[in-house]
Amino acid sequence: MPRLLLLLPATTYRAEAFLAAARRLNLDVTVASDGATILKAQRPTDFLYLNFRDPDEASRAVVSIARQSPIDAVIGVDEPTTVLAAHLSVALNLPHNDVASVSAARNKHLMRQLLRRHHVPVPNFAVFPHTAAPASLVGQIAFPCVVKPLILSASCGVIRADNPAEFDAAFRRVSALLTALGLTVLDEAGHLILVEDFVPGREVALEGLLTAGTLRVLALFDKPDPLDGPFFEETIYITPSRLPDRTQQAIAACAQSAARALGLREGPVHGEFRINDGGVWVVELAARSIGGQCSRTVHFAADLSLEELILRHALRLPLPSLERAAGAAGVMMVPIPSRGALQEVRGQDDARRVSGIEALTITATPGEELVPLPEGTRYLGFLVARGATPDAVESALREAHRRLTVVLRAESAGARPLPPPARPGVVTF
Ligand code: ADP
Ligand code: CA
Ligand code: CA
Repeated sequence: MPRLLLLLPATTYRAEAFLAAARRLNLDVTVASDGATILKAQRPTDFLYLNFRDPDEASRAVVSIARQSPIDAVIGVDEPTTVLAAHLSVALNLPHNDVASVSAARNKHLMRQLLRRHHVPVPNFAVFPHTAAPASLVGQIAFPCVVKPLILSASCGVIRADNPAEFDAAFRRVSALLTALGLTVLDEAGHLILVEDFVPGREVALEGLLTAGTLRVLALFDKPDPLDGPFFEETIYITPSRLPDRTQQAIAACAQSAARALGLREGPVHGEFRINDGGVWVVELAARSIGGQCSRTVHFAADLSLEELILRHALRLPLPSLERAAGAAGVMMVPIPSRGALQEVRGQDDARRVSGIEALTITATPGEELVPLPEGTRYLGFLVARGATPDAVESALREAHRRLTVVLRAESAGARPLPPPARPGVVTF
């Protein structure tokens, strides 16, 4: 039985999907994590505590385990473990992406530099220490711009600014966030802030699989809600895309060039692209599969999940046909309406009754402090829909969301500014 080492960050939403795929493939699984919550929630048979922050220490631990019982593949789930998975694969002599390429895909500044060097379309950019005085930088940037950290994900800390006053506020806010998360001292890229031109246009996400450097597109998602800032909360993803074939081909070609520029050759990639009159622009290309519970929308004609495909690829097992299942699918990352402790989400049964809704999962727990973007890092939950057409799926998601009421208890005290006024569908006590 092949043996899989699964690196699961404590914060992942992907544990269940990967463990289910491993069971279907009859694999022996060792789950490694840096947090105990995974252990409690998933009760894996074989659990290994690994220090995710120290690749050398982690490599020594894993090599010594593999001596007793060989490991055939290492899968890093979500952003925080992609680089470590590459390190461990090197230590175990398993085929994998270079550590350098995965590190570049994880660091927005390195990624921009490599893409620009290889003539892949990216906005103009500059990087500054988080301690810089924003007013002193204004001569070096153009408006509108986007201010962002180098190593966070899920749009955390990503803010658009249209003028010097907004830039000042955005820069200070990102700087405060990096400090609050402890990143300025812990991570070598954590003290830097990237500022780049705002790329107008519509946005898509691409899910792909690399084999010997060649990209296969597994799904292309439209993001039908406008993402114009100032914050960039992800909401709806719908596949297949409704864009013309020619545009879809241009996006796939851009993703392939981006992978080549970064040096990524094996395994899943998840990219975001913007399309406007100037062509296709890379927002980013990550060396991992889609996050949250969104993978449920990637369906193949052969009864196979995205996670099974990723595991099969990593174990060098034959891949069945990657033909897409018929019909359309979509997911909504349920928006966090405002700051406050979650009391309950009302209307869940009503939402589930909407035709086409396949699943509603509220992942936040009662009492949990919900933090909207740009500071938030957690999701409220996920709505998954399936239907004959992308339009039908989008309507189902919007109708189900309309039926939900998020009940929050606003913070009673503290120095933080008051949350913005609640949106419809939100009750704040
Ligand atoms: P993260 O890794 O946190 O997801 P991204 O760089 O992907 O950060 O940015 C998050 C979102 O912000 C993108 O999906 C996009 O909607 C928006 N965004 C980021 N950079 C730009 C840009 N230069 N122009 C326009 N929108 C951008
Ligand atoms: Ca990212
Ligand atoms: Ca992103």
